[in-house]
Amino acid sequence: MKVVKFGGSSLANAEQFKKVGDIVRADRKRRYVIPSAPGKRFPGDTKVTDLLYKMEEQAENGEDYSETFEEIKSRFTEIIEGLALENFSLDDQFEEIHRRMEEDPDADYAASRGEHLNGRIMAAYLGYTFVDPFEMIFFDEDGGLDDRKTMRAVEKRLAREDYAVIPGFYGCSYDGKVKAFSRGGSDITGSIVAGACHADVYENWTDVSGFLVADPRIIKNPARIETITYRELRELSYMGASVLHEEAIFPVRRQGIPINIRNTNRPQDEGTWIVESTAQKSGYVITGIAGRKDFCAVLITKDMMNSEIGFGRKVLQAFEDNDISFEHMPSGIDTMTIVVHEDEFIEKEQKVVSAIHRLAKPDAIEIESDLALIAVVGRGMKSMRGTAGRIFSALAHAHVNVRMIDQGSSELNIIIGVENKDFETALQAIYDIFVLTQL
Ligand code: ASP
Repeated sequence: MKVVKFGGSSLANAEQFKKVGDIVRADRKRRYVIPSAPGKRFPGDTKVTDLLYKMEEQAENGEDYSETFEEIKSRFTEIIEGLALENFSLDDQFEEIHRRMEEDPDADYAASRGEHLNGRIMAAYLGYTFVDPFEMIFFDEDGGLDDRKTMRAVEKRLAREDYAVIPGFYGCSYDGKVKAFSRGGSDITGSIVAGACHADVYENWTDVSGFLVADPRIIKNPARIETITYRELRELSYMGASVLHEEAIFPVRRQGIPINIRNTNRPQDEGTWIVESTAQKSGYVITGIAGRKDFCAVLITKDMMNSEIGFGRKVLQAFEDNDISFEHMPSGIDTMTIVVHEDEFIEKEQKVVSAIHRLAKPDAIEIESDLALIAVVGRGMKSMRGTAGRIFSALAHAHVNVRMIDQGSSELNIIIGVENKDFETALQAIYDIFVLTQL
């Protein structure tokens, strides 16, 4: 049995809906369908979810929201007409939304209607039962997912349905109101349904044919990743590669259910498989490369640092007291470097520096900015000789000066710090040496 989730761009208009219909009908095992709200139809278009948030804000501020509401309605009407659905109308739902905006505007409720209405259309179009996640996805008192209650409720409710559409992105709060996940949260709904129903696979359909080895905005036509483990994916998405909501892996991971990322516009592509662990070698030594610019390194020096117990804790305390999380912490004998995000750090910079002086009494503190970090990730690296050597010789040939190196103890990744201006060149050099030349 397969659980299939479709993202906003896969459902942006009637034409996309038809592709989705074909995909679902092509395989009777695709029994539970999770739709997002209609996304962008073309670059520069607005997602329905954004329109809903805007409408709610206008309603809450007592402004005229009728134009926004009309725009939202027309997005759905366009789909209904394009699909030529007979005896189907969302008029009652539109009326209910209008009443809520008048009487008791609420952002989560408003945002959730994108998925809710799209789910109703999808159910009618496919001839599947519509099941409202409000009845079976529950949040706890702190606003987190109430995992046990949810899993039990979903399993029980869906046991009665062979084929169903369940809108993504929302559920029921502790006090019985509609509550939305964070943005992109339909991925989580799909994962919950797949986990609760013990699906064989969770298919996540989007507008790319899976994960790529590197960011296509920087590397031209990068190779596709065929199989990636959950842990590799965490490393890559942390460094900026994003296709799937971060929290979407947990409900399926526990049960060893693989996620298959697929492209609605190219259903013939195999996509990327995300799995717990695999004996399959990746095509290359590395699985992927990702990176981000704009980090700062705070270099702290103190003679005999190595023998001073508690020095590291005091330094980190200075960051914690100022609410700054640190990314990496490479260290030497008498030096230690704390790498932080520039935008988070810059306004508190002097406060942090004085706190380090006060707490840890170092000899000197230096700050370097414009640092970019690159993560080279691959489960295959630990059993291969010379991976680091190849990375650094490629960078040297490309005239990139390496400012920092950090190899995680998991040996799943190597993090390299370079200057912002060398970022693209460095990514290209690493990509070329592992993927193009495969030396
Ligand atoms: N429609 C919601 C958003 O735009 C949720 C989702 O698409 O997953 O964030």
